[in-house]
Amino acid sequence: MLTLMSDVARKSLGPASRRRLKGMIDPILAPVGSIHGAKGPSNKVALTFDDGPDPVVTPRLLDLLRTRGVRATFFVLTDKAADRPELLRRIAEEGHEIGLHFDRHDRLTRMRLGEARRRVRAARAWLESLTGPVRFFRPPFGSQSLSTYMMARFEGLEVVSWGPYAEDWAEQAPETAAGKVLGPVKGGDIVLMHDGLEKPEGEALPTFDRVRMVELILDGLAARNLAPGAVGDLLADGGPRLSAWFRR
Ligand SMILES: [Zn+2]
Repeated sequence: MLTLMSDVARKSLGPASRRRLKGMIDPILAPVGSIHGAKGPSNKVALTFDDGPDPVVTPRLLDLLRTRGVRATFFVLTDKAADRPELLRRIAEEGHEIGLHFDRHDRLTRMRLGEARRRVRAARAWLESLTGPVRFFRPPFGSQSLSTYMMARFEGLEVVSWGPYAEDWAEQAPETAAGKVLGPVKGGDIVLMHDGLEKPEGEALPTFDRVRMVELILDGLAARNLAPGAVGDLLADGGPRLSAWFRR
């Protein structure tokens, strides 16, 4: 029902009407809301990186974040992390927050709930054995039904969606990708980016320098007096802004 409602809204309403509709629905559905940002005035912006760790991009990204003294959240795929446990350990040791993306980049909405639960439990247990407690979960593709949301909550995980995104799965100049974030971004937002990148078979991966994109985003945030950090840092201030977020 909720998925249907959001599909109808996506297809038939303009952006302004969609925002209005969402503004009316979100307070009603807050008990089943996903974390979309932080409440209240904030100068913080959470940086999130999905689909890693990646053997080429992640080390360079970690170097950049260390140089700038910035903490971020990495939503990792545990099958990829298992191939490179040293990278996963480095992410944790350098003080970043580690969230669960899943074991592989599959849609939870396209499998039986029992399978989704079993895989979330196993992936989380493995991750926690290496890096400590995991609080946040972001399902691949943002695919979520009311059932998979409830499952994640019953497992004690908090579901995190996102606000501005760089569209960094598409080929483009780093300046263009950074501009897509810096245009709309405001304090309290959660920014979506990728250090790894999982695309459907046969689709080409973009080759632009995504670490340069992050560097430009950090410069742009600093110029606006916005402070980048991890999702946990963002929520420590104002508490979560929740939004009903269901999609196939
Ligand atoms: Zn992903």
